[in-house]
Amino acid sequence: MDKFPGQLKRALVDYPNTFCEKNGMAMLRPKFKICSLHTTQTGCLDHRVCSDVHICPDFVFDNCHNERCALGHNWHTNHNTRVNEALYLGGLTSEQLCRLTKRILGQNTSLS
Ligand SMILES: [Zn+2]
Ligand SMILES: [Zn+2]
Repeated sequence: MDKFPGQLKRALVDYPNTFCEKNGMAMLRPKFKICSLHTTQTGCLDHRVCSDVHICPDFVFDNCHNERCALGHNWHTNHNTRVNEALYLGGLTSEQLCRLTKRILGQNTSLS
């Protein structure tokens, strides 16, 4: 599952913007997002076809410290592992995934 060298993975985490623009990998950013259905009351009903991360958004931003949070604080569930591996992010730690998501969401949440 190690299609990309470690250095590239680190570049994705540390410089998602620069990296994407310079190397024509803009596909990475829009694709990697927290499932919008996951945070609704009904939840995401079709895990098998969903290609978005299922994680508590508040947890990503250090705002949720509920260990039993229904939205989940685990980056390495079967579902999230599959999503991450599809984006070649399977080798990243939870902390790295948090940082990456924060940056991506931080840039996309300027909707008022
Ligand atoms: Zn989903
Ligand atoms: Zn939570």
